[in-house]
Amino acid sequence: MTWCERLWPITGTGRSRPVDPRLGRTRPPAPTSGTARPPAAHPGDQSAHLEEQAILCAVCKARITDQRQATAIDGHHEHAFFNPAGIAFEIRCFRAAPGAIPRGGATAAFTWFPGYRWRFVQCALCRTHLGWLFTGADSFHGLIASLLR
Ligand SMILES: [Zn+2]
Repeated sequence: MTWCERLWPITGTGRSRPVDPRLGRTRPPAPTSGTARPPAAHPGDQSAHLEEQAILCAVCKARITDQRQATAIDGHHEHAFFNPAGIAFEIRCFRAAPGAIPRGGATAAFTWFPGYRWRFVQCALCRTHLGWLFTGADSFHGLIASLLR
């Protein structure tokens, strides 16, 4: 059976599956994400503004991080994954996220990024689960795109 492999791409390939617009996107609708992502339709005209753009918790509007902390992991800022329960997540990677606090112990179980352990992170103000802190040779936050604005 390929059940596990289908739910969990890492099991089959050893690699994550970055978002690739050429392949079509299977993520569920994310109505709040449209304004936070620089669309290809506006090349360059927002770049200076985006450098200082605050990124907020979509639930309580607390400041989580800002656009300057955005980073690319394995060549991609955004990644799409399934968790072991088959739930899809689209995450955005940030070097630092002062508004997100880690919870629980670090584990390598089911990690999306080989070589990295993870902890849950939640909004420091409203405690919403916002994503994960990955630590390995370096560290970064993978924050759920639909929970940012
Ligand atoms: Zn919040």
